[in-house]
Amino acid sequence: MGTVAPSFLDPTTAEMFLEGRGLISSPMTREALTRRIHQRRQMHVIQAFSYSLGALDLLLYSYAGTIPIVVPSAFWISGLVLIGFFAVLSETGFNDRFDDHYLTVFQVSGHLALQLGFLVAVPKIGFAFISVLFLIFAFGALRMTSRQAALSWSFATAGLIAVFLFTDLPLGLPLTNKIERLAAMLCVVLVIGQCTFVGLFGSTLRKTLYRRSVELKEAYRRIEELAELDELTGSFNRRCIMRMLEEEIVRSQRAGTPCSIALIDLDWFKRINDAYGHPTGDEVLRTFAITSFANIRSIDRFGRYGGEEFLLVLPATSENAAFRLLDRLRAIIAELDWSAFSPGMRVTISAGVATLRQNETSDNFLARADGALYASKARGRNRITSA
Ligand code: GH3
Ligand code: MG
Ligand code: MG
Repeated sequence: MGTVAPSFLDPTTAEMFLEGRGLISSPMTREALTRRIHQRRQMHVIQAFSYSLGALDLLLYSYAGTIPIVVPSAFWISGLVLIGFFAVLSETGFNDRFDDHYLTVFQVSGHLALQLGFLVAVPKIGFAFISVLFLIFAFGALRMTSRQAALSWSFATAGLIAVFLFTDLPLGLPLTNKIERLAAMLCVVLVIGQCTFVGLFGSTLRKTLYRRSVELKEAYRRIEELAELDELTGSFNRRCIMRMLEEEIVRSQRAGTPCSIALIDLDWFKRINDAYGHPTGDEVLRTFAITSFANIRSIDRFGRYGGEEFLLVLPATSENAAFRLLDRLRAIIAELDWSAFSPGMRVTISAGVATLRQNETSDNFLARADGALYASKARGRNRITSA
């Protein structure tokens, strides 16, 4: 009979539907509003189609002589008038004022009242109208919140109590001849078919929602990673290591613990690039970063400051301890077997170490470490200098 049914099963429609329910939020752009109107139009067309199928089934009953011809016509026209009413509201943009832009409760109530009206008016084929109630609720439940569902169900219950308990109408399923049997069968088949369609639509929505949540989680993880890490070396990028430095300065000043930093620069790196090529230079940077990671503590923070220069933040570390840690790293890099990149290759680092002074700013702190690094270079490279 006349029913409402979900439109299409493709994921885009499913996403549009989720958007409609507020499950995917996006700003209401003109484009989004147009898309909503389009969705509602599709729904109204399907409803009209569904009422037409119902009216055809009723036509069979009138052909069989069970009901007067006026019943299918009235059913069809009143269905279309109801749909038309909601279509006019939809086209004027009235629906967009509400969170549930389908006005689901009102639609469900409207169609419910229509079916109950026909149930009372033509009780002889009451079964046909009752079966449609299943479909109305199957579809409505896709869009309703539990409160809306409880409300609509209460309306339906009140209506059915009135019809079943306060009247003695003989609600029937006439099967006295072949055409009546055919009409009853078609009614059942159509309702089952449309209910299945609703179920399929629901499971498509669930799958889409699940897929979207997995994709979003992955994208979020990637964004976080990209925002923090240097692409080449996998160490923290400049923005991130600078933020960590600021945080560490605040923590150190509050807790009164020492905080040291080291600016590390690869020696004669331009020559490495020139002699072995830029890609090999990249590999050297990567190897240096990995080796550094392996030789610092878990509380230390290591980031790329720029080019072939790195910043190491050493929380709760005195100047002496920082110097020893850096000198050990320097020796490890110098003694590393770099011949895998190219026979005879040697790589060394120089660093400037500084320990935070009272009320010192990060700029000053870094400038002192940079001065110490410059001193390491001036003194011949492959060495560590304390500021
Ligand atoms: P010094 O010992 O004085 O530091 O000498 P240097 O050659 O290392 O100093 P300089 O700053 O002149 O050269 C740094 C070089 O590092 C220049 C630049 O091409 C190279 N470089 C910067 N970033 C990258 C990178 O991402 N990959 C490669 N392969 N080279 C880089
Ligand atoms: Mg250098
Ligand atoms: Mg440099």
